[in-house]
Amino acid sequence: MSYVDEIIQQVTEKNPGEPEFHQAVREVLDSIRPIVDANEEKFRRDAVLERLVNPERQIKFRVPWIDDQGNAHVNTGYRVQFNSAIGPYKGGLRLHPSVNVGIIKFLGFEQIFKNSLTGLPIGGGKGGSDFDPKGKSDREIMNFCQSFMTELCKYIGADTDVPAGDIGTGAREIGYMFGQYKRIRGVFEGVLTGKGLTFGGSLARTEATGYGLLYLTDELLRSHAYTIKDKTVVVSGAGNVAIYAIQKAQQLGAKVVTCSDSTGWVYDPDGIDVAALKEIKEVKRARLTEYKSYRPNSEYHEGRGVWTIKCDIALPCATQNELDIEDAKALVKNGVLAVCEGANMPTTEEATKYFQDNNVFFVPGKAANAGGVATSALEMSQNSERMSWTFEEVDSKLKKIMENLYHNIDDAAKKYGFEGNYVAGANLAGFEKVLNAMNAQGIV
Ligand code: NDP
Repeated sequence: MSYVDEIIQQVTEKNPGEPEFHQAVREVLDSIRPIVDANEEKFRRDAVLERLVNPERQIKFRVPWIDDQGNAHVNTGYRVQFNSAIGPYKGGLRLHPSVNVGIIKFLGFEQIFKNSLTGLPIGGGKGGSDFDPKGKSDREIMNFCQSFMTELCKYIGADTDVPAGDIGTGAREIGYMFGQYKRIRGVFEGVLTGKGLTFGGSLARTEATGYGLLYLTDELLRSHAYTIKDKTVVVSGAGNVAIYAIQKAQQLGAKVVTCSDSTGWVYDPDGIDVAALKEIKEVKRARLTEYKSYRPNSEYHEGRGVWTIKCDIALPCATQNELDIEDAKALVKNGVLAVCEGANMPTTEEATKYFQDNNVFFVPGKAANAGGVATSALEMSQNSERMSWTFEEVDSKLKKIMENLYHNIDDAAKKYGFEGNYVAGANLAGFEKVLNAMNAQGIV
């Protein structure tokens, strides 16, 4: 059995009940075969892949908190510090009832390669909790965040591990966590990114993942002699990534006709009204059912369905495995040109292959949504300098990072004989840099 297959089998056996982690490892290891196969003996001797798939550290802790009625609850908190070969661990904190160790490990593993692709010095990590922020009062959110950080603060720091937002963790939660970190550790430092602008946050961080996704999509299309202007775009999700992806797509002249949340989806033939969407989701924290009261011409549907709408570009921006083989077939039948992932691993393995087999440009999340973490790293730089850059400065750096990133994965795909396969290109380019740093630092 090849070394790659042996490790894929080992990961499956040693991490039972963690299908998302298995999926992420399988996808990465499969595409780095050309490098591994060419160095199999040395890699086996140095246990390169074992060190890659086993987190450096995995922390699991109890998070007790008290609700507004005085009842105590206990959630589970996680931080997986996966790989620090190229810099301090960096990756978001997910607050969602579906969170378990397998999901955090899948996200942390992906983060290693994503962070490497940004070209910035950041290692891979991820964390979160099975806490459900939905329906909680501000005070309950604060209680939870303070309790979560009371434990997490022992393991993080500006030069060791710098968490950020993710599903369920936005500016409000980062603010509460930062306050508690500062109170316990007694230092004001850049330990979290996505902070408010009055206490060390970076301009353009809120917009970065969605904007970055569009900068990359635009560069991809232009490199293939297409333009994004006047294209019809279908987006899933209605959170941080989706909102700013829709905004930037519109600024670039495209028409975005859908968005969705965990209960339903909206079709707006005149183009999504971003101001209305922001008010519903960011201010009222309400359901998309409200959208119709702002835009009478739109349709609201319960359940899933955005991928049935005819489009040129599809941008899945909600959550993992939200676009399956049936969705992929519908998109291809409707003539989709490009699928770029705003979320992490939103496309199933089968659907990914279907896109590739049908000549759809497909860019995986670890490349396409890297603008968020890249801008987080820019926030870290500003914190270290004790300076704040203008929106335009940050945004233009982000644009350059995403354009370079596209060309790096395109070049890597070509170098290893997989032209046009951006999954392989992203994994190979991301891995090359991490491998180099791991080799140089010895067996640690
Ligand atoms: P948010 O919490 O802001 O938004 C998530 C959106 O997806 C919401 O509309 C939510 O619906 C919907 N959603 C969440 N879970 C499910 C589910 N199980 N089924 C259907 N819909 C769901 O998160 P973000 O926008 O920050 O993150 C979205 C994706 O992008 C995630 O995969 C995240 O890991 C990834 N990502 C985020 C980055 C960032 O900077 N924020 C950076 C890189 C990647 P509802 O409104 O009902 O909750």
